[in-house]
Amino acid sequence: MIAAQLLAYYFTELKDDQVKKIDKYLYAMRFSDETLRDIMARFRREMENGLGRDTNPTATVKMLPTFVRSIPDGSEKGDFIALDLGGSNFRILRVKVSHEKKQTVQMESQIYETPEDIIHGSGSRLFDHVAECLGDFMEKQKIKDKKLPIGFTFSFPCAHTKLDEAVLLTWTKRFKASGVEGMDVVKLLNKAIKKRGVSTGTNACYMEELRHIDLVEGDEGRMCINTEWGAFGDDGTLEDIRTEFDREIDRGSPNPGKQLFEKMVSGMYMGELVRLILVKMAKEGLLFEGRITPELLTKGKIETKHVSAIEKSKEGLTKAEEILTRLGVEPSEDDCIAVQHVCAIVSFRSANLIAATLGAILTRLKDNKNTPRLRTTVGIDGSLYKMHPQYARRLHKTVRRLVPESDVRFLLSESGSGKGAAMVTAWASRLADQTRQIAETLAEFRLTEEQLLEVKKRMRTEIQNGLSKNTQSTATVKMLPTYVRSTPDGTENGDFLALDLGGTNFRVLLVKIRSGKRRTVEMHNKIYAIPIEVMQGTGDELFDHIVYCISDFLDYMGMKNTRLPLGFTFSFPCRQTSLDAGILVNWTKGFKATDCEGEDVVSLLRDAIKRREEFDLDVVAVVNDTVGTMMTCAYEEPTCEVGLIAGTGSNACYMEEMRNIETVDGVEGRMCVNMEWGAFGDNGCLDDIRTQYDNAVDDLSLNAGKQKYEKMCSGMYLGEIVRNILIDLTKRGFLFRGQISETLKTRGIFETKYLSQIESDRLALLQVRSILQHLGLDSTCDDSIIVKEVCGAVSHRAAQICGAGMAAVVDKIRENRGLDHLDITVGVDGTLYKLHPHFSPIMHQTVKELAPNCNVNFLLSEDGSGKGAALITAVGCRLRQQEQKS
Ligand code: ADP
Ligand code: MG
Repeated sequence: MIAAQLLAYYFTELKDDQVKKIDKYLYAMRFSDETLRDIMARFRREMENGLGRDTNPTATVKMLPTFVRSIPDGSEKGDFIALDLGGSNFRILRVKVSHEKKQTVQMESQIYETPEDIIHGSGSRLFDHVAECLGDFMEKQKIKDKKLPIGFTFSFPCAHTKLDEAVLLTWTKRFKASGVEGMDVVKLLNKAIKKRGVSTGTNACYMEELRHIDLVEGDEGRMCINTEWGAFGDDGTLEDIRTEFDREIDRGSPNPGKQLFEKMVSGMYMGELVRLILVKMAKEGLLFEGRITPELLTKGKIETKHVSAIEKSKEGLTKAEEILTRLGVEPSEDDCIAVQHVCAIVSFRSANLIAATLGAILTRLKDNKNTPRLRTTVGIDGSLYKMHPQYARRLHKTVRRLVPESDVRFLLSESGSGKGAAMVTAWASRLADQTRQIAETLAEFRLTEEQLLEVKKRMRTEIQNGLSKNTQSTATVKMLPTYVRSTPDGTENGDFLALDLGGTNFRVLLVKIRSGKRRTVEMHNKIYAIPIEVMQGTGDELFDHIVYCISDFLDYMGMKNTRLPLGFTFSFPCRQTSLDAGILVNWTKGFKATDCEGEDVVSLLRDAIKRREEFDLDVVAVVNDTVGTMMTCAYEEPTCEVGLIAGTGSNACYMEEMRNIETVDGVEGRMCVNMEWGAFGDNGCLDDIRTQYDNAVDDLSLNAGKQKYEKMCSGMYLGEIVRNILIDLTKRGFLFRGQISETLKTRGIFETKYLSQIESDRLALLQVRSILQHLGLDSTCDDSIIVKEVCGAVSHRAAQICGAGMAAVVDKIRENRGLDHLDITVGVDGTLYKLHPHFSPIMHQTVKELAPNCNVNFLLSEDGSGKGAALITAVGCRLRQQEQKS
């Protein structure tokens, strides 16, 4: 009894002794928490370098985005094949994910040998081999004719530009096939598969498996970043903790100087590290009484699985004896204890280093999320973690010690990366399906050339209907005569007052036009707000307000006592009987004052001036803003005979032949016609190209059923169309995590100026996101991509149909004049045209394509509503004087 106790005591003493000796010998491999925290901080810096745009090119830890933007969310299902290349074995798996009651994953797999000569041979042979194995697997599984999606787990550092593309940066581990680095491995794989005639459903998709730990980081946990931390230390950062054994491992590896961290921690090098230590200790007589055998000196004789076996708590020492005996070193009891401790130090170091880098990622995640306590799950894969008896426990303990302010759950990624690949394949096909559905939705906005030609043709028909006596009363495009018979000739002279009503702002202007050698136009103006209750109140209130503003302006200019001629730019459809009489057909845009429709707005204005009894004015002309725009441009450029507005609303005017205007007597000369083309489509003639979103916008507008063309192409509505699409896409689960926020439900929040910003080519995705965020739409990067596409589709269509309308106009002018070819200028005004980054070029291009016989020049108008009204008034005064003379 006592003897036995003594013996046990003696044995413990002995063991302690040995352990202390080894601890001292390998002190460089044992890290204090302080050192580990230091390594953690270094890795944190490396990560930041890898993520930074400017620092990434030279960063050792590349932090490669995987373009896996969300982890599988469990809604995947189907039958998949997964290839897993890069681990110790090449495996092919078939994974069936189903959803009866609870998600089940069924898996069958086969391991294929990859001979050394293939691993080191040519790339094409390697991929041929992979394809051959795949063919064999599919034959055995009797799925040769099923077109199953294939996921490709390729565990080497790759750069991704898209999900199904992965350019190998460099081989690591034992692989060294030639001609693959710098190539897209997915393409190589697909080529080999095709060559073999294996039929697959889709292109292989791809997911990087991290050697040991697979962790999701990035945009709110949405983008998986492959840290490629194996290269940590490649720039010398870890020199102080690397040992002579690490250097020796590196020298003997296929990629010296590379993947230094990986060589310290990975299971692949662990056995070898232990062997090198044992060799050195034996040489120094510290082990095996100095016996060194050829086996002990042979690379690869101690494997990682041996390290695991030796560290087992119960039979570890017996295993050590077995393994060492096989190496011929005739180990003593002491030797076995020492070797066991060497193994423990090497594997402990690996767990500690992994804990430090993982800790760095976790603190970064914590900082990103800005929470005092991080709750997260880390999925871990790798045989060391799975098979080694103490590794997982040590890793967990150290991580919790290094990052105490976190609750980390470690999840063994069961069945390894193959399942990961299959999940991602499933995810990719779900994403592809979603992308397809979004594309289908937006495809409704992409009009073909035939459709656009059809729009042009229909516009031409409606123009004819508006001009002809028989049809004009029911025509939608009203083709209103303006009594402007000629463009300015430069002799206009005098001081004029102009009003601009119907745009975003109401303005009063004083315009001084001087003729002669040096023609000048001088303008003074003041902007006045029209409160919404006035816009939508009674007619008298509206016109009293207008006259009040004029009074204020005249006071301001000190001109109350001169009876100035006035041009009234009134940008709504008016049926004119003379230059100074216009009956409002109906309000459009945001206006809805009562008792105005059907009334002559010049009379309403004159009455209001009388009511005020403060001043008198000579109202000479009522002017539409399109006409003002055309006149302003024509003052500079005589070939300008068309006006176009692409602002809050959409409209055009042009010089039509008197003989064609059946609603006005006379056949001589020309007259400008205010087309009021915004109403194009009100008879249903555009219904085949209108979408459910156009209907929704129309339903919610002030003038439902009216101005259908305008509602597809003007500033007041484009944002609303976008908002309605976004609501639908959100309902279908493609956007904003399926959550329709109060903001998104708010009419008008998505102003057209945001389309301009979002579609700007200079804007990075992150900026798009911040615009959305600013709007109160909590979005991810994925969301921003989709929103940008939606905006693009809506504004593109707007520009195209606007161009189709314009093509109809210029072709009509050309035919009016019996010309094969027409050179003409269009005066344009409107913020949509001026500020949207793509609207004007697309519109120009469309006109060019749809009216190939016209050379159309677009000229930006400078304040058409003010200057144009004054010019028309001036022309009107001149004509009046001529009439009085004669
Ligand atoms: P109006 O047509 O009312 O006389 P504008 O030509 O200035 O006035 O157009 C104003 C309209 O232009 C706004 O209602 C808005 O829809 C649109 N808009 C404003 N800012 C932008 C922008 N940055 N890009 C595109 N459209 C814009
Ligand atoms: Mg305007």
